[in-house]
Amino acid sequence: MKYNIQCPHCGNILTVEEEWAGQQGFCSHCHMQLTIPPPPSTGDVPPVYLENQSHGGEHQYLAIAGFVVSLFCCCFVGLILAIVADQRMRRSGDFQGHGWCVATYWIVGLQIVLGIIQVLCGSLFTL
Ligand SMILES: [Zn+2]
Repeated sequence: MKYNIQCPHCGNILTVEEEWAGQQGFCSHCHMQLTIPPPPSTGDVPPVYLENQSHGGEHQYLAIAGFVVSLFCCCFVGLILAIVADQRMRRSGDFQGHGWCVATYWIVGLQIVLGIIQVLCGSLFTL
């Protein structure tokens, strides 16, 4: 089966045979040596290059919820929501609203630091 590849040197489109995959070849245009890549149908296509589904930004609401919860209710529940949203975004490759996850990490980190300072100051004053 024939398929098209692009020369990495000059960008020329070359038609190659499937059994040539992995072998060294020469570009018919610029005569530079190149390794013939595997055909697109049998090569492992990373999920990132798959057709993006239309439900973009569906995880940002979870991230926003995590941010609000960490700010006003319980920082650990908010942190869990933000981590879940973060992982789902990484898995789907859809990073719309990822800033909310980062914001939640900062809020939770700040609350922990303030908590530690409070404990330290409290123990100082009692001495
Ligand atoms: Zn070339």
